[in-house]
Amino acid sequence: DFPIITLDGGAATGKSSTARGVSQQLRFLHADTGSHYRALTFLLLRKGISPEESDELTEALEEMKLSAEVDGTLASLIADGKKLSPEDLRSLEVNRNVSSFAALPPVRNRLLRYQRWHRELALEKGFLGLVIEGRDIGSVVFPEAPFRFFLEADESTRIQRRSEEGQEDSVAARDKADSGRKTAPLHCPEGAIRINTGNYTLEEVISQICQKVQN
Ligand code: C5P
Repeated sequence: DFPIITLDGGAATGKSSTARGVSQQLRFLHADTGSHYRALTFLLLRKGISPEESDELTEALEEMKLSAEVDGTLASLIADGKKLSPEDLRSLEVNRNVSSFAALPPVRNRLLRYQRWHRELALEKGFLGLVIEGRDIGSVVFPEAPFRFFLEADESTRIQRRSEEGQEDSVAARDKADSGRKTAPLHCPEGAIRINTGNYTLEEVISQICQKVQN
């Protein structure tokens, strides 16, 4: 069977760096679903749409054409033929609004099919598997995946990580919103392996995960 690794966890728990390392070591495709929610947030805000259910929101979501571009092991979302810059995806405006858009069922439904399609994309591009990170991957997107992990880190570790990246982002507020929402709340999926990334180096976390997959 085609191996899928899911990495879920709160903001700044080390998911992206871990997924990148794992994807390179195992030659798996890497999908960052946080960037999908960020891209939709950026595009919807630019259209003047506010984070609540409305006809304009539904219409805008239906109109968007989503595809992907693969660079190295990373898949990036292409909306209407355009790839967004890291600055757009990680802007203060997006950090402030992404949890509100991500709580809306029409937004999540639009992305669910797109995210599941990455399995086919990985196969088609000749990768040996898929590593996909987010908040609801091991619980909703790929609940059957054989390798499911939940990353955690204490708040001081997370705030330090974000400030080293030079980002203004209130990670605690986003986690609170993401954990408290009705649709696909952030939680450790049943049966997933918990890793407190504050206790290990990045290399150690990557090799723990690779070892599970290779055994
Ligand atoms: O991972 P990242 O911090 O970039 O995610 C940005 C936001 O996207 C999260 O705070 C959350 O609101 C949303 N998200 C989600 N489900 C996912 C991935 C991200 O709701 N699978």
